[in-house]
Amino acid sequence: MMYGKILLVEDEKTLAKALKFSLEKEGFKVDVAYDGEEALQALAGGYPDLVILDLMLPKIDGYEVCREIRRRSDLPIIMLTARDEAIDKILGLELGADDYMTKPFNTRELLARIKAILRRTGQGGASGKKNIKLGDLEIDLIKHKVVVRGCEVSLTSKQYALLSFLASNPGRVYSREQLLEEVWGYVSASDLRTVDVHIRHLREKIEEHPAEPSYILTVWGAGYKFREG
Ligand code: CA
Repeated sequence: MMYGKILLVEDEKTLAKALKFSLEKEGFKVDVAYDGEEALQALAGGYPDLVILDLMLPKIDGYEVCREIRRRSDLPIIMLTARDEAIDKILGLELGADDYMTKPFNTRELLARIKAILRRTGQGGASGKKNIKLGDLEIDLIKHKVVVRGCEVSLTSKQYALLSFLASNPGRVYSREQLLEEVWGYVSASDLRTVDVHIRHLREKIEEHPAEPSYILTVWGAGYKFREG
């Protein structure tokens, strides 16, 4: 069993209560905020290990709360959304959430994702490598800093995790399922698009010509790989 502190921001009281119950049963300590203002107040009193954040909230909405959090930290955030369309914005640089779930969702799936995120953020870089240098791309694996053509680029924590994973295994082809498993910690067939969205955002950040990538290559019918040397 694992323990951690979760801030749950959800204005639907029935859902909030049910989720709090399920999470507590798993051993988490859960604080609930029913609107964006309460969420920011709760955060001012100290950070939890993870935030579950509903998008549509009274007073201050989930977008603004997410931006507020990202301004100060890379605290893991899972967004809850009623619609699928917002995925680009949610996972992209604008908000930089770690993951999202579309309502209605399966509580066990949410639990699996929470555990995957906490497992990942709880473990330090075990490999001895300190940085990766290839062409005009440099990745500082200790400071989590990425420099392209002499300029530091800002990546979300998930974009960074994906890039550093691929770049640490150059030339190896990974399917989208494998990348979900390695980087997100779970596999769900409905979420393969998440990988593509992150790859696209990453290419826009690091590639000189995102449409003709030279670092993260598409292997048709198979997946993606990072170029070798
Ligand atoms: Ca809501």
